[in-house]
Amino acid sequence: RAKRQGRNTWQWYGADKAEHSRHSVTLRHELHTALKENQFELYYQPLVDAVTGRMRSVEALVRWHHPVRGMVSPAEFIPLAEQTGQIVPLGLWVLRQACQEMAEFNGRRERSLRVAVNISSLQFIRDGFLDDVFRILEETGLSPQLLELEVTESVLIDGVEHVIKLMEALKDRGIRVALDDFGTGFSSLSYLRDLPTHKVKLDRSFVQNTATDRRIAAIVQGVITMAHHMDMMVVAEGIETREQQEDLARRHCDILQGYLFARPMPLAELCLLPEILPANSNE
Ligand code: C2E
Ligand code: MG
Ligand code: MG
Ligand code: MG
Repeated sequence: RAKRQGRNTWQWYGADKAEHSRHSVTLRHELHTALKENQFELYYQPLVDAVTGRMRSVEALVRWHHPVRGMVSPAEFIPLAEQTGQIVPLGLWVLRQACQEMAEFNGRRERSLRVAVNISSLQFIRDGFLDDVFRILEETGLSPQLLELEVTESVLIDGVEHVIKLMEALKDRGIRVALDDFGTGFSSLSYLRDLPTHKVKLDRSFVQNTATDRRIAAIVQGVITMAHHMDMMVVAEGIETREQQEDLARRHCDILQGYLFARPMPLAELCLLPEILPANSNE
């Protein structure tokens, strides 16, 4: 199953194998409890227009309030949940919660915000996923135009044709798809040609190094230009400094996301944000 694993795999943790498996057995069991006992919460991080700073959408990011260990990072438990299949019920919970919370949130605002939800490859290509999405939209009342699904290139691992069909069906309903962490997977530009996606999200490993690495800058510029020619928007993830903000804006990147504007936050805090976010490194 190694080929399925992304960047944040257990292999990377460096400790010995037995320790790993003990830890993951515990975590797996605890994930099960967490699902039953509702220990998850969604945080939301704004994405802003690169020119005006106006909030365009938010990304839902799951948080686990572990009763003993405190906040556990999704970088730690999502890969495990993917290995055990628990990502399926967890992912459904996330999708429903995000749609429900944003339907309510938008009901109290003049201008609606779109919400982007991360979908694991496993979840995306699983039978019945589209029906789940359509049902959840109906049940929560969120307009399909206000939902965006973020998938990574790893979704293509078992075949491109099927994925294209799924994306077309989503698009037909007005639901958008974004390619997340672009540039970190086995990006093949020919895939990009065929995928009906609305957006590519440049991974922060690129975004944060354009100023110092000319080759990375060239890739970033190339992706932006290419995406625009394919009528896709480009998001830069992980904007932390004004220098990065200015650099990406100068390269005509459309949308920026990062700590410079806002960290992921609970819904209650999102409600207090102004429409236009000042760039103020709140580090
Ligand atoms: P992602 O989808 O690429 O999300 C962006 C990650 O970058 C988030 O980490 C966010 O907090 C972080 N980030 C945002 N701005 C900055 C910045 O300026 N600097 C730095 N250093 N980091 C920034 P987070 O919330 O820890 O999530 C990590 C990953 O876990 C996500 O990466 C996504 O792949 C996964 N994930 C999170 N929530 C979900 C979920 O509900 N379902 C699934 N399947 N995966 C999720
Ligand atoms: Mg994402
Ligand atoms: Mg990303
Ligand atoms: Mg990422």
